[in-house]
Amino acid sequence: MTRPTLATVWLDGCSGCHMSFVDMDERLLDIVDKADLVYSPLVDYKEFPEHVDFCLVEGAVSSEEDLHKIRMIRERTGTLISFGDCAVTANVPGMRNPIGVQPLLDRAYVENVTVNPGVPLDVVPRLLPMARPVHRVVKVDVYLPGCPPSADLIYQSLVDLLEGRTPDTHGARFGR
Ligand code: SF4
Repeated sequence: MTRPTLATVWLDGCSGCHMSFVDMDERLLDIVDKADLVYSPLVDYKEFPEHVDFCLVEGAVSSEEDLHKIRMIRERTGTLISFGDCAVTANVPGMRNPIGVQPLLDRAYVENVTVNPGVPLDVVPRLLPMARPVHRVVKVDVYLPGCPPSADLIYQSLVDLLEGRTPDTHGARFGR
């Protein structure tokens, strides 16, 4: 029987959700017993595969690069999981939305800088007008809230998915 494949990605997030993923500790061995981890910032794969069964997506969609990535990932993924509050609600990245892109960039790269002020348009992915939750851009199949989601919630949800069940996330809440 072919083993299911699992990927994890981050968009505009702080990596805290992935740290919680690592906090599964020895239970990570159970996960890799049940699935092949084929792409993740935690491992050294360079290309997102053509087909992935399950993908955890951390972070909001904030830049043109994020937008390109999430559309490509959606096309190639069976079950897409919005992983953590930034993916589910835009959360911290969304705090910039009322400010507007240009004032934000000016504040970060010009007003608060004493050496070589200037917005690095050539090397930093261009920001979208708003940071958006993943489901506002592509279809999401499963939501794992939390900032970050607990290792217990991640583990139980992944085991459920890999064993063909719908995860029970009713106890999970924004911000916990
Ligand atoms: S949900 Fe919290 S822990 Fe996860 S990326 Fe956002 S700020 Fe970081």
